[in-house]
Amino acid sequence: MKYRTILLFGAPGAGKGTQGKILGSIPNFFHCACGDVFRNLTIENELGRIFIDYSSRGELVPDEPTIQLWRRSIAASQSLGRFNPERDTLLLDGIPRSPQQAKMLEDTLEIVAVLNLTCPDFNRLVERLQRRALRENRLDDANLDLIRQRLATYERDTRPVLDYYGPNLVHNIDSTQTPINVLRSILRILADVPPRT
Ligand code: ADP
Repeated sequence: MKYRTILLFGAPGAGKGTQGKILGSIPNFFHCACGDVFRNLTIENELGRIFIDYSSRGELVPDEPTIQLWRRSIAASQSLGRFNPERDTLLLDGIPRSPQQAKMLEDTLEIVAVLNLTCPDFNRLVERLQRRALRENRLDDANLDLIRQRLATYERDTRPVLDYYGPNLVHNIDSTQTPINVLRSILRILADVPPRT
């Protein structure tokens, strides 16, 4: 059985995490952020060291270990009873992050919508990330060169995922609106997503 999935998509700083947390508190939605799965690893763990190595350069962690880790994490959520795929819609944030990852997850995910949080203003993204650096203690948000590198990685590796899923699934949402208005735009779209059959 595939997981019914809504993908939260957009550049770092576009607000995926903020909206994901809100939507994840609605009954029958389960929010899963891949970056959080990585940050829960410890430095003693080999994959934890690989994560630090890549993320501190603003690069993506290679696909194989990423998908493996994610599969283990979602299985754990299932066995702990936090995520019930027969009842819940998965709100995925930060994965798949390349067309190759999308291909690897094809047998696992039934994507019903891609919520693409757009932000044409590069400086606005940078500002948001720098604010988050202190609030969430994220070193990868503190350094301007690293932020630039992550945004370049997004353009090169991640944006093509939108073409992979195609225009019928992708909904563009202006992420420069206030959080409450972004939420309203998202809810309007979700109200029209076909219900589970
Ligand atoms: P942001 O929303 O700022 O991009 P995330 O918390 O989603 O931050 O990700 C932080 C870092 O974790 C990324 O820069 C990347 O190195 C790594 N990462 C997260 N998800 C993935 C993924 N699906 N594939 C590869 N690397 C990932």
